[in-house]
Amino acid sequence: MFRDGPLLELIDVSKVFPTIPPVHALSAVNLRIMAGEYVAIVGQSGSGKSTLLNVLGCLDRHSSGQYLFDGIDTVELSDAQRAALRGSRIGFVFQAFHLLAHRTVLENVMLGELYLATPRSQRRRRALDALAQVDMTHRVSFLPTRLSGGERQRVAIARALMGDPDVLLCDEPTGNLDTHNTGLMLDLLDALVARGITVLVITHENFVAERSDRRVRIEDGVVSELARSKR
Ligand code: ADP
Ligand code: MG
Repeated sequence: MFRDGPLLELIDVSKVFPTIPPVHALSAVNLRIMAGEYVAIVGQSGSGKSTLLNVLGCLDRHSSGQYLFDGIDTVELSDAQRAALRGSRIGFVFQAFHLLAHRTVLENVMLGELYLATPRSQRRRRALDALAQVDMTHRVSFLPTRLSGGERQRVAIARALMGDPDVLLCDEPTGNLDTHNTGLMLDLLDALVARGITVLVITHENFVAERSDRRVRIEDGVVSELARSKR
């Protein structure tokens, strides 16, 4: 159940890394993303894409401005509350997959569940369900090292789905994939959008961005809207 307002809203958000000299990674970013939107964020390497995603995902705190998640002012949340928000509402997919090498596919996905207190049998059932959604049930007992890149990324998506997220934040999800697996990944994202999940994809590849409904450019920490694609 959503409010009428944006799911994610940045108001004049800046992020400065206090290095010497300081890095202004985000400069007065204004961005509103509605529930159910499929948005691509495009920009060159070093333009601030990952910083933006880390702020949106409550992995990192912004320096000034306001970030509202579903109307909640994230500045006021403690680290524990931010972790709870991530676990219950946000899913992450990274370029490098970030799977644990010595755990099976099923165990990796089960670890995506925030509330480890839920009975193991129930978590197992939910993990199997998530793996079915990404067409990976035939590999549940494999170690990630024995999977292809495309398969690893599908497992990472299954893990992200365990928390039943409202929004999936993907940082260069196809960056390590060949053309075929990139296509499969983009089809999967389409299916998640069709289910009502809000999807944000960071990419520097135009053909990936063109699959989204809306494109946003970031250049030296400054965000601007691009024309809507006609999908
Ligand atoms: P992108 O993901 O678009 O390649 P990033 O968001 O990772 O870009 O980085 C944006 C800018 O912020 C870059 O100039 C980068 O060097 C700098 N940066 C990123 N993380 C840090 C950090 N932890 N400390 C200092 N500078 C950083
Ligand atoms: Mg990056």
